[in-house]
Amino acid sequence: MPIVRLADLIGQPAAVEFLRGVVAGGRFANAYLLHGPAGVGKGTAALAFARALLCERGAGAPAAAPGLFDPPAPVTGAAPLDDACGTCAACSKTATLQHPDLKFLFPVSGEEKELEGTVAETIAALRRDPLFVFAYEKAASIRLSLTRELIRELAFQPFEAARRVVVVRDADRMREDQYSALLKSIEEPGPSTLWVLSSSRPHRLPATIRSRCQRVRFAPLSEAAIAAFLEERAGVKPAAARLLAALSSGSLARALTLRDAEPLELRDEALALLEPALRGDAQKLWQESQRFMKYGRTGRETLRRMIEFHELWLRDLLRARYGAPGAQLANRDREQDLRRQALQIDAHEIRRRLTVLEEALRSIDGNVTADMTVFSAMARVAGARLGEGEWPPHPAGRWDY
Ligand SMILES: [Zn+2]
Repeated sequence: MPIVRLADLIGQPAAVEFLRGVVAGGRFANAYLLHGPAGVGKGTAALAFARALLCERGAGAPAAAPGLFDPPAPVTGAAPLDDACGTCAACSKTATLQHPDLKFLFPVSGEEKELEGTVAETIAALRRDPLFVFAYEKAASIRLSLTRELIRELAFQPFEAARRVVVVRDADRMREDQYSALLKSIEEPGPSTLWVLSSSRPHRLPATIRSRCQRVRFAPLSEAAIAAFLEERAGVKPAAARLLAALSSGSLARALTLRDAEPLELRDEALALLEPALRGDAQKLWQESQRFMKYGRTGRETLRRMIEFHELWLRDLLRARYGAPGAQLANRDREQDLRRQALQIDAHEIRRRLTVLEEALRSIDGNVTADMTVFSAMARVAGARLGEGEWPPHPAGRWDY
């Protein structure tokens, strides 16, 4: 999640237009809530909005009229009034999260005594890596001690800018008592504090907080926008970018997280898994299934991704069979294979296979061992050809052996 300007955000024209309008209008609510699916740019937008609000040449300019003997204001050129200029002193500080009036809270996990180090490391990574993606453990939360410290600071005047901006990422990860302190602060923001909250689970925020925020909605990103970003800014090759974008369900963060996994190789491996089952070679299929047991959690994650690639292939088969042009196929790099297979498989069979794969994904979540999941899923996708009779209809049931 880089620290950019509103103008640099991708694929969210409505939200960005709204935020720029707020900056240009110069009249601010006490709090904004940026909400929408995970990984679509809410957190990036929250920091970009904060930068625009603190920019010395725009919204952050001192409100007081210049005195009679003050030197004339410098000519600011074409500084935008609705965004950060990117070049003033305030903008250089906000670009690296070093502006004293920009406060940034985000969920953290781990020991309380290591908190300072964990926060500093995350911020350093965020500064260093323009493609940084926040990833939390399930129990990560916005820590009470940090909120307390912040709320104490809010009693004082901002240091440099006309106002202070507090950005709270994933604001739904707080405790009850933090929300009451937050609510109090939003209702009586003291000397010019503006809150920018982001959340992909806004229903988890207390209604009292939601109702005091101006809400800004973010939409899932289009596959085209994600693929373009991956190609242009993350150096991903077009064929891999297309696959990742199709797999990302509109979340750029997810696509970026998956980008190191060699998507084309993984996809080819996923499809190759089915081959022994199609040939009726149960022994080979069992051997192949065993290798997922070696890597524990990583093996399961890889397996999950492979099943998702297999599903993507089936969706392409459906598209190819019913006349989609090549440009609409996620697996365009293997269009000939797709077209050939599409002649032999109808919508009913594709649906049946997708159902089997969906069950396999659930069985990974349900802790069925990886080898059992692969063996059962591939055997069932291949149909009766394995000659081993019917496989249980619900592989999510536990297998004890
Ligand atoms: Zn500026």
